[in-house]
Amino acid sequence: MDDRQAIERPRARLFVEDTLACDARPMLAPGQAHYLSHVLRLGAGATVALFNGRDGEWQARITEAGGGRCAVVVERCVRAQCDGADLWLVFAPVKRAPIALIAAKATELGVAALWPVFTRHTAVSRVNVGRLRANAIEAAEQCGRLDVPAIIEPVRFAEMMAGWPPDRRLVVCDETGRAPPIAEALSGAARLPKGGGKWALLVGPEGGFTRSELDALGKLPFVTRVGLGPRILRADTAALAGLACWQAIIGDWRQRGEPE
Ligand code: SAM
Repeated sequence: MDDRQAIERPRARLFVEDTLACDARPMLAPGQAHYLSHVLRLGAGATVALFNGRDGEWQARITEAGGGRCAVVVERCVRAQCDGADLWLVFAPVKRAPIALIAAKATELGVAALWPVFTRHTAVSRVNVGRLRANAIEAAEQCGRLDVPAIIEPVRFAEMMAGWPPDRRLVVCDETGRAPPIAEALSGAARLPKGGGKWALLVGPEGGFTRSELDALGKLPFVTRVGLGPRILRADTAALAGLACWQAIIGDWRQRGEPE
């Protein structure tokens, strides 16, 4: 096997929109070209890993770099596309730094979609969806997943409730102390086959859910209310703790990782 045949360990892993296939020449965004040629100082001949959420992960080779441009040609598929868990994170938006943290860490924790929802006590009035997507792309590139979570258009709590798909179970993080502990509440689902169907985790705002929001949620047949211990967690902590528990009980943390 000559050097070109061997799978090299590239120094960069990038998300692209274009189709990936042998000999394809996907466009890199100007920021990606700058990162490869000026930050990493990679030149012609160096390899990069590319993924687009549809075609798996591919090794590509830089054919030209410099002057703000970087061109690549796709050589070989190194990982086939596979499905992750079908778990959404539905959350009341918080300020800029914690919402960026939520988007990045929830991506690492394997969510399929991020859905900001305005509850009664949500303190912020708008969400920068483009920035959330950028946070998710950067985290997906870094953590090795083959797709980027969808960002669902933000809506008000009542709209979310009215349009909720009934085949998706909604796990509501309830800070009142009245819900069963999460491990107990989800234990029945631990026997589900890999993936476990369609799920979502809902976390409230820093001001908490209102009594009427929790009452309305409690009446829905697809809702499971859960507690995350005796302390009141910040919304970002609660989101990440809830996702970690779900992955450990129902999701892909039940499998062994692939050895390096
Ligand atoms: N304002 C509320 C209070 O002081 O009681 C606290 C809200 S907490 C900062 C934000 C969200 O995180 C809550 O709405 C809930 O979804 C989740 N959360 C925080 N601590 C939790 C816990 N111990 N159990 C379940 N959910 C929790």
